[in-house]
Amino acid sequence: MKLRPVSSKKDIKLGDAHARWDGNGKSEKELERLGEKESARIAELQRVFYADGRFAVLIVLQGRDASGKDGTIRKVFSSVNPQGCTVSSFKVPTELEQRHDFLWRVHQQIPARGMIGIFNRSHYEDILVPRVHDLVPKKVWSARYDQINEFERMLTENHTVILKFMLHISRDEQKKRFEERLADESKNWKFRAGDLDDRKHWDLFTKAYRGILENTSTDWAPWYIVPADDKDLRDVLVARTVADTLESLDLRYPKPDPSLAGIRVE
Ligand code: ATP
Repeated sequence: MKLRPVSSKKDIKLGDAHARWDGNGKSEKELERLGEKESARIAELQRVFYADGRFAVLIVLQGRDASGKDGTIRKVFSSVNPQGCTVSSFKVPTELEQRHDFLWRVHQQIPARGMIGIFNRSHYEDILVPRVHDLVPKKVWSARYDQINEFERMLTENHTVILKFMLHISRDEQKKRFEERLADESKNWKFRAGDLDDRKHWDLFTKAYRGILENTSTDWAPWYIVPADDKDLRDVLVARTVADTLESLDLRYPKPDPSLAGIRVE
C-alpha cells in the first residue's frame, strides 16, 4: 500500500471514486495502528536527519477546502520534535505580498537544512485561484508552471528534498465535512461562506488541479495524489511516503570529533 508519484497523464485520476482506496483490506483499527507506526518512523528518522544537517525537506499539502490538510499535519507529524519542524500556511496574499513576485513570500518560508518544512497550501494557490476566478490572463497563470518548476529545481539543487501531496476528496465527503463544521460548535470556526462559493466551482478546480499535476510533477519535485476520503488511510499513505523518503537519504550522525576522544567528565 504505497503512493506512486504522478509521472504521466494517465496517473491523474480525480473522479469521486478515486478519493477512496477500497479493497485496501484494512480495518479502521489496523489503519490507525499503521499510521502510528509510520509516524514513529518519521520521528526516529527526524533525529538523525536533524543531526546530519545536509538536507532540508519541504512537504507541500494542497487540496480543496476540508480535504484534511490540517488533520494530516496534526496526525502525521504529531511525534516530530517541534524544534526540527516548521509549518507555513498561505492565505490570500497581503497588500505587501501582492506588490512582490508570487514566489517572494514562499521563498522566505523554505526550510533550512536540518529542518522539515510543511506548507499548508502553497505557491500552487497562485495558479489555482487566479485560474478558477479568472483574476489574471491565462498567459500569466500558465507561465507559472515553468516558473515554479525552475524554482523547485533550484531548491533541490540546493539540498532541499520536495514532496507534494494533493489530498483528493469526493464531492460527498466535502459536503459531509462542511455539514459537520456547521453543526458542531467546536468546528464552526473552520467554516467560511466562501467555501460554498468554491464548492460551486468544483469542476473548474478539478481542471486547474489537473493542469498543475500534468505540468509540475517533476523528477525533482513529484506530486502524489492521496485518496483522502478515509482519514486513517490518508495518514498512513502520507506518513509512509515521508518516512520512505527520509530513509532513502542515507542519513548519518556526524563523525565524532577526534579531539573529544578520551575526555572524561569528572
Ligand atoms: P480549509 O481548512 O477549509 O482548507 P484553510 O483554513 O486552509 O481552509 P482559509 O483560512 O479558509 O484556509 O483560507 C485560505 C484561503 O486563502 C483559501 O481560500 C485560499 O485559496 C486562499 N489563498 C491562499 N493563497 C492564495 C493566493 N496566492 N492567491 C489567492 N488566494 C489564496
